[in-house]
Amino acid sequence: MERIAVIGAGQMGNGIVHVAATSGFAVQMIDVSDAALQKGRATIEKNLERQVKKGTLDAAARDAALGRISVATALDAVADATVAIEAATENVELKHRIFADLDRLAPAGAILASNTSSISITEIAGRTKRPEAVIGMHFMNPVPLMQLVEVIRGLATSDEVTARTVAIATAMGKTPIEVNDFPGFVANRILMPMINEAFYCVMEGVGTPESIDTVMKLGMNHPMGPLTLADFIGLDTCLAILEVLHAGLGDPKYRPCPLLRKYVAQGWLGKKSGRGVYSYSA
Ligand code: NAD
Repeated sequence: MERIAVIGAGQMGNGIVHVAATSGFAVQMIDVSDAALQKGRATIEKNLERQVKKGTLDAAARDAALGRISVATALDAVADATVAIEAATENVELKHRIFADLDRLAPAGAILASNTSSISITEIAGRTKRPEAVIGMHFMNPVPLMQLVEVIRGLATSDEVTARTVAIATAMGKTPIEVNDFPGFVANRILMPMINEAFYCVMEGVGTPESIDTVMKLGMNHPMGPLTLADFIGLDTCLAILEVLHAGLGDPKYRPCPLLRKYVAQGWLGKKSGRGVYSYSA
């Protein structure tokens, strides 16, 4: 059975660890920040508990899942993994650095996957001496609840690595969909321009955040409005993805809204920081 290492214990990382562990995989959760590891583990415990209360998981399965998770602050903990799934901050230089390190530290034959929302898998692969082993494995937020995994092949990704990745996503109870390596892939190529436009609507006074979200919920039958969704994703992550779309596709239609930039500069990052478009302090 594959042994998984997840790099990054934030919203996405701890969700991937949660699902991997409940699916029977041994999983290492790695983060440079000890506080992030503690918070990640506490979130997993809380979410597992919720599943037990709802009756979708029994107590023995919860304990077994927790027993499969170990944590580490140093990347050399990937030495034992057959699959590394990187879910660190959405930043090109950071991801390039992590993949150069993973190439050095992960055993031969290991899959090096990235959960990036938008950054080129081919470019990331170019930072390693094993581009055939590098692939995008783009989970959706919140990972325990969302069905989709976008599987993104880089230019040199092998058929074998793609097939193994699809098998792992399926074993985690997800539905993998293969897409090609373009900025933002499919999900964020379509989602982020909508979120960006919602910010322009706030900035230009077309509507209040509440009215914009309600229009999209009631008018388009979306389960939540674009500004609420942006707060869930993280406004820093939304901005980073828009920068990748803008730089990578060169079309001014992807220009990030100045109001979104302002919120991020202020540290209003959304739900994870307690304040974004909306306030979560209560
Ligand atoms: P987050 O801010 O919640 O977590 C990022 C984590 O990465 C932090 O805990 C940070 O300490 C850690 N980190 C930073 N540098 C590191 C390093 N060198 N080694 C190990 N850990 C490091 O962010 P997130 O929302 O979990 O996003 C993570 C990735 O997942 C990004 O690439 C993002 O684009 C992608 N993603 C996010 C969403 C979403 O809705 N938030 C959805 C799909 C994919």
